[in-house]
Amino acid sequence: MNTTLHRWLQAQIHALKEEHLYKPLVVMETPSEARITVNGRPGVINLSSNNYLGLANHPKVKEAAIRAVMEWGAGAGAVRPIIGTMRLHMDLERRLAEFKHVPATLVFQSGFTANSGVIPTITEEGDAIITDELNHASIIDGVRLSKAARRIYKHCDLNALEDALKSTRDARKRLIITDGVFSMDGDIAPLPDILRLAEQYDAAVMVDDAHGSGVLGGGRGTAFHFGVHERIDIQLGTLSKAVGVMGGYIAGSAVLIDWLTQRARPFLFSTGHPPAVVAAVLAAIDLMENDPSLTERLWDNARYWKEGLKRLGFDTGVSETPITPVMTWDEEKAQQMQRDLFEEGVMALAIVYPTVARGKARIRTMPSAMHSRQDLDDALAAFEKVGKQLGII
Ligand SMILES: *Cc1c(COP(=O)(O)O)cnc(C)c1O
Repeated sequence: MNTTLHRWLQAQIHALKEEHLYKPLVVMETPSEARITVNGRPGVINLSSNNYLGLANHPKVKEAAIRAVMEWGAGAGAVRPIIGTMRLHMDLERRLAEFKHVPATLVFQSGFTANSGVIPTITEEGDAIITDELNHASIIDGVRLSKAARRIYKHCDLNALEDALKSTRDARKRLIITDGVFSMDGDIAPLPDILRLAEQYDAAVMVDDAHGSGVLGGGRGTAFHFGVHERIDIQLGTLSKAVGVMGGYIAGSAVLIDWLTQRARPFLFSTGHPPAVVAAVLAAIDLMENDPSLTERLWDNARYWKEGLKRLGFDTGVSETPITPVMTWDEEKAQQMQRDLFEEGVMALAIVYPTVARGKARIRTMPSAMHSRQDLDDALAAFEKVGKQLGII
């Protein structure tokens, strides 16, 4: 194959490698646990997983998946609106609505498809979308698919948000979109202040709570954490992170969910979850709701981990949640630190452009409920050694 396309691809890859932006896949040979086997090396401390509560491999979650396969089969057989909706799918949506204290929910294949499905379905030409500059890629893609005008405001800056609201007074309807917990920095959106402005200027609010789900508000998310869940028009949760399985859902009013079942394209044109996924999620929600010690352990570990890093002199940015960046600023240093940490038995991924801005490279660490104190102490020792080698501390 020597087409222009292939020469272009080779040049792109070459350029990424030159700029230290090329990232080979890391392959696990064991389940997503506190210690994993990676590239043939056993016992590596896993600080990169979104499996915050350990539910991805909880025995009850696994059993539920196996039982569902035996009872319902391996796949749903069609897209949801044709003949791919099983009673299980409806059970899950009801269960999620109860859990979130909202009238209705709709489950999508992933958080990504939920964002890219919802945003263009509820906005049209003449509307305006007002979106935080650090919002997740799936929000950005959802906004790109919409014909509405867009205003990107400075991260969590209420003056910039208000300016955007003032400058879009002519829009027919307006939608403010923000992450609840920002996935690369771990800070929390100031929802009460955002809502105050939204209500003042008659804008709807959508919160992407991928990293708040299962973590904040007893697992119910950022809106619940602030006690404002009844005033948020649209909440997005993931089932892929703390819930440990796969999927995304929209939580909101009955009429919102009704409209999405009629018009959201990933819901209409892509097959829904296999029964094993739905049953596993149901089991995970039960565990999350009935066992508060899971989220307590997560937060204990997060506090311990952050204090340990700060004591060593690392810059952990503005994090308020278990997501803990360890700033290196420089891309090459971040990649080198990832390799050196791996040599010391720690898996913590470098995050570089385009996931974060150029010059804001970091090692992103995620302590979870699965880690023991020994795991975290061993990891801190590795960070100390590597941080000194690289002149970061
Ligand atoms: C991970 C993430 C998503 C996508 O969720 P998936 O279920 O993995 O597709 C959406 N939004 C944010 C903020 C995320 O961090």
